Amino acid sequence: MSNTTSTAVMQSNAAYIELEEHHSAHNYHPLPVVLERGEGVFVWDVEGKRYFDFLSAYSAVNQGHCHPRIINALIEQAKRITLTSRAFHNSEFANFSAYITQYFGYDRVLPMNTGAEGVETAIKLCRKWAYQKKGIPQNDALIVVCDQNFHGRTISIVSASTDPDSRRDFGPFTPGFLVIPYSDTHALAEALKNPNIAGFLIEPMQGEAGVNVPDEGFLAEAAALCKKHNVLFIADEIQTGIARTGKLLACDHEGVKPDLLILGKALSGGVYPVSAVLSSDEVMLCIKPGEHGSTFGGNPLACHVAREALEVIKDEKLAENAERLGQMLRNKLRGMNHPKIKLVRGKGLLNAIVINENDGVSAWDICIRMMERGLLAKPTHGNIIRFAPPLVINETQLLECVSIIEASLNA
Ligand SMILES: *Cc1c(COP(=O)(O)O)cnc(C)c1O
Repeated sequence: MSNTTSTAVMQSNAAYIELEEHHSAHNYHPLPVVLERGEGVFVWDVEGKRYFDFLSAYSAVNQGHCHPRIINALIEQAKRITLTSRAFHNSEFANFSAYITQYFGYDRVLPMNTGAEGVETAIKLCRKWAYQKKGIPQNDALIVVCDQNFHGRTISIVSASTDPDSRRDFGPFTPGFLVIPYSDTHALAEALKNPNIAGFLIEPMQGEAGVNVPDEGFLAEAAALCKKHNVLFIADEIQTGIARTGKLLACDHEGVKPDLLILGKALSGGVYPVSAVLSSDEVMLCIKPGEHGSTFGGNPLACHVAREALEVIKDEKLAENAERLGQMLRNKLRGMNHPKIKLVRGKGLLNAIVINENDGVSAWDICIRMMERGLLAKPTHGNIIRFAPPLVINETQLLECVSIIEASLNA
């Protein structure tokens, strides 16, 4: 195979890592592996070594890498038309709007591209609604968020963050956020006594914070409190949504229907950046023409890909598979009774183990050992390792992965 760039003739992981190290910003600290191909639950590095992907691009590839139906949808649509802008209508957006609103049971959708843009959109919708419908005085609207949240990287979103790394030297910050502890009904009830609260923005499970599962009943109680105080319940399901936790949405575990639902990541099966906010007529129609938008949001390529990605979830019963294999994974991990594992937690196929680092072997070291044995996972927040394989994984593959994990803990 020929390659026209001057940096073409390289084979080793190390060579690519060095090249990237010299020319790219250092805003990530990846595991030392360079991937070039993926299929289903597997990825391959540039040296031809195969790995189980236990991160799934932060749950963007729930449908598995390069799902043939989604890739076909991408190719077919790319040959027809890719971008029209919203200055004109496009047929794919019309079809997608009808499809996704019916799929999730909402009146209307507002499409964007990245997850962070979806969250920004939800915040703007919430504020508009607060001034136009709830009657909060101009510029007084507050949105309640949770300690250790992760909603993305824009200035406004990191303004709502409590993670020092996400905020240091990025000020001044956007006002209008109020932080309460995660999964704390009492703190929420207290906060909602303030009549200027417009919304409560929450991840129904905190992914980046280390797969924090709220106490059972919290989401339902929180939604009821929001309803009582006329506050919008805003669910960031960018990581937890689309079958990852064993239900279509993590909120479904408690029968909660968010007033604003934010989706991203697996909405395209990891093929193309697509995000969306879903809501009611009452909230969505607060934003008028010219008040919000995105050049690429709702483009025909994104819409066609996303529709196929959502169909795959249903056709292949991926929520059911996540539920069943997630149970099995947690049972196996707990059954190890391994001294290195302090705690196993999660729902569906969004799981984490908390590593006991007392013996000097860190979560990072364990991840390197797993990598050497053909499984890729990454520590989040120090001693926590997230296990989130593509939802197309089967039982045989899962059991092989459990063996790799156990061998890596023992090594
Ligand atoms: C990944 C993520 C985001 C941000 O999505 P981007 O596409 O990276 O902007 C927001 N919220 C949650 C819960 C996420 O996991």
